[in-house]
Amino acid sequence: MTETGFNAYKMAQDQFDKVAQQLDLDQATKELLRQPLREYHFLIPVRMDDGKVKVFRGFRIQHNDARGPCKGGIRFHPQETADTVRALSMWMTWKCAVLDLPLGGGKGGAICDPHDLSQREQELLCRGWVQQICRDIGPFRDVPAPDVMTSGQHMLWIMDEYEKITGGRYPGMITGKPVGFGGSLGRTEATGYGVIFCLREALLDLGMDIKKTTAAVQGFGNVAQYAIELYQEYGGITTIVSCWDQKDKQSYAYKKSEGVNLDELRSISDRFGGINKQKATSLGYESLPGDNWLSAPVDILIPAALENQLTATTIKKIQKTVKIIIEGANGPTTPEADEHINNQKILTIPDFLANAGGVVCSYFEQVQSNMNYYWDKNRVLGELDDRMTKSFHDVLNLSKKRNISMRDAAYMIAISRVAESCKARGWV
Ligand code: NAD
Repeated sequence: MTETGFNAYKMAQDQFDKVAQQLDLDQATKELLRQPLREYHFLIPVRMDDGKVKVFRGFRIQHNDARGPCKGGIRFHPQETADTVRALSMWMTWKCAVLDLPLGGGKGGAICDPHDLSQREQELLCRGWVQQICRDIGPFRDVPAPDVMTSGQHMLWIMDEYEKITGGRYPGMITGKPVGFGGSLGRTEATGYGVIFCLREALLDLGMDIKKTTAAVQGFGNVAQYAIELYQEYGGITTIVSCWDQKDKQSYAYKKSEGVNLDELRSISDRFGGINKQKATSLGYESLPGDNWLSAPVDILIPAALENQLTATTIKKIQKTVKIIIEGANGPTTPEADEHINNQKILTIPDFLANAGGVVCSYFEQVQSNMNYYWDKNRVLGELDDRMTKSFHDVLNLSKKRNISMRDAAYMIAISRVAESCKARGWV
């Protein structure tokens, strides 16, 4: 439960219950899938730079591994709660299943603020985390990855400690490693490109020529920048990009009706995806404060920044021109807004399908690391395209067949695949 009273785990369970009912799952399967299979809660003592020992709280939660080893990130966050990690592990199970990856779902982390820790303290925390959990993770059990406030460096420390303890070389025990140290080419582009592979298919289905479309994007970070890159390569025009301004402590939308120039915007942005307002204005961009990106008269909206952006209030700004909303971010649409959008017949491509390119590429990294054979970038992006395209059509076909939203269809596919695996193994 957060300070605002929002409980992600309750939300994940409510979503599950709704679909379980539609799928008519039996009681045992429902019980098995609406909570994690296993939870590990542990303490990590770290000798800090001042010589004193500080005790951190760590987690690893494995929601379900019927389809394969668990997969999911490690977060370092001061407000982390067991319930948030439970919800995130459940969502990982559904994300892997809707993409038909042979993986389950897990999530973990430690309650800490890395900003308050030296590099040495962070390294000891990573090593301490593995020492507590090394018997229950591994290349064929549970494969972590970076998440909020963890990086490729943290993954390398975790891998090194795991290898020291187990006495072998197991680069496939973790993903998100830097390229050259077991990481996969294409990972940087994977999520944003995955969004556009889905968008391309959606436009084809609606009979719209991508070259004649316009889009508004919220965010200018990893997902947004690569989504804009591929969309523009396909000939689409991004007329508006919005991002957070650290100096003014508010967001701005940067607009150019003939289309933004990605290279130009990249050259005036910082590593957190913030665009320099003064430089943007001098380059001829109109800067509009607040959530103006939402009221742009475009064909496509791509929320690729934050959760809870399309709410019952903000969706009133959406123009009649909008045909598709594709969720690059996690959880950008509230359930009330979702209902309204469905009633308006705007096609919404849900987050756990649209932004799954990252986890697909993590799976490719796992495969490459386990084989100790690394693919070139074209192969990675080509296989990513194939997987995203197939999964998109699986979901679209079911949504048409049953006349339900793509979000409901994606949940139905994911949950029924996991339920079938549990049944086939004789668990239920
Ligand atoms: P990022 O930190 O690289 O970029 C975030 C962007 O959002 C920045 O440009 C920032 O300025 C902008 N932003 C923040 N607050 C804003 C606001 N109020 N209004 C407008 N813009 C705002 O993050 P990212 O990796 O691109 O991730 C974006 C979203 O996609 C998150 O929801 C993340 O969970 C999700 N996601 C990311 C990946 C991945 O591989 N990076 C994978 C799956 C899902």
